[in-house]
Amino acid sequence: MHTTSHEQDTLLARRQRVLSPSYRLFYDEPMHAVRSEGVWVYDADGRRYLDAYNNVPVVGHCHPYVVEQVAKQAAVLNTHTRYLTDKPVELAERLLGTMPPELGSVIFMNSGSEANDLAVRISRLVTGNSGIIVTDCAYHGTTDLLSGLSPVTGLPTGPGVFTVSLPPKMADAGEFRILVRGALDKMREAGIRPAALLVDTIFGSDGVVSGPVCFLKGAVDDVRREGGLFIADEVQPGFGRTGAGMWGFARHGVVPDIVTMGKPMGNGYPVASAVLRRELADIFGRHQRYFNTFGGSTVGCAAALAVLDVIENEDLVVHAAETGAYLKDGLQNLCKRHDVFTDLRGTGLFLGVQTPSGDVAARIVNALRRAGVLIGAAGRGNAALKIRPPLSVSRSDVDYLIGTIDDVLNKEIER
Ligand code: PMP
Repeated sequence: MHTTSHEQDTLLARRQRVLSPSYRLFYDEPMHAVRSEGVWVYDADGRRYLDAYNNVPVVGHCHPYVVEQVAKQAAVLNTHTRYLTDKPVELAERLLGTMPPELGSVIFMNSGSEANDLAVRISRLVTGNSGIIVTDCAYHGTTDLLSGLSPVTGLPTGPGVFTVSLPPKMADAGEFRILVRGALDKMREAGIRPAALLVDTIFGSDGVVSGPVCFLKGAVDDVRREGGLFIADEVQPGFGRTGAGMWGFARHGVVPDIVTMGKPMGNGYPVASAVLRRELADIFGRHQRYFNTFGGSTVGCAAALAVLDVIENEDLVVHAAETGAYLKDGLQNLCKRHDVFTDLRGTGLFLGVQTPSGDVAARIVNALRRAGVLIGAAGRGNAALKIRPPLSVSRSDVDYLIGTIDDVLNKEIER
């Protein structure tokens, strides 16, 4: 169906009338999405856009197998974890099969926020401590607690929260350890002991900070020495996106105490999880009960199982490594030819390109949207471009992406 810009304006006006002003739309000219398939999103005029931003449709938008499994399960049974059902057990077994053996227990919820919220609650309960360390451009979720642990939102940090300022490029693997030591010192001066270090293991909202490999390890050791846990937020890097295994923490040579995941887990269906060391789950279970009505629902679990099947059957982790390297090469070439690209970071299909300012990044993002490519911006001052296509992206899609970026930089940004 053809939609005129008048109809889109009307929809925008209706939206503004009924939806909270706290919502923000992407792009100067909002995109009216009506359907999607694979790496493509189609607008109301039937125009297609390459989705190189959204990490939720990890195996591709509307993947037929995921859609089929969700529909099949929805037609048979959809209930919660207070009944004995197959799917949550099957999913927990499959997830644990992707994790180091120390991680032995699974709790389901519906969003990354709920997973992080519970992880922080468990870390405070089992350690008896209250201090949490996060990076100063971190985003960890929407709850009141997590708003205080998400400085990128501009909201004040919560009680007991200490931040470290992560440089986008670190000189060596010891630099992060020194920063975290500084935070531990400040905590001690304030009479607070650490409950956890909570980080996104690819530091997406910090502008994609991928190296040097293993830079988390020393910091995690120090936090543990002072009684704290390590919570790996895998909401962004998880499910194979880094191309270096299923989970971002693997690149750092550390085993987390708690792993949180969401977004890509159901390829768009809300399902999330916290995976923790068995002994932590036992302590938590002795003290508190946890019931989340939709967390671990039969259909949510069917969606997540289907995503795991597709990642395995289509060999998407290896594909992410190979196609990611191809994409990184293409971006590296653009860096050589375009002064506005000042640095390139990332791994697999999670890449960040530094630009001089948030203004420049926003101009590029908006010009690309007009040219048929969707990306976003992140990091300090929103000056880094964030590029994250579905893992199923092909080399010819990458060629289209690189060609379009090149064109936009030549014609619109560096005129
Ligand atoms: N952690 C990270 C690193 C995220 O990027 C997000 C969402 N952007 C969350 C947690 C929160 O996830 P959700 O929106 O599913 O609650």
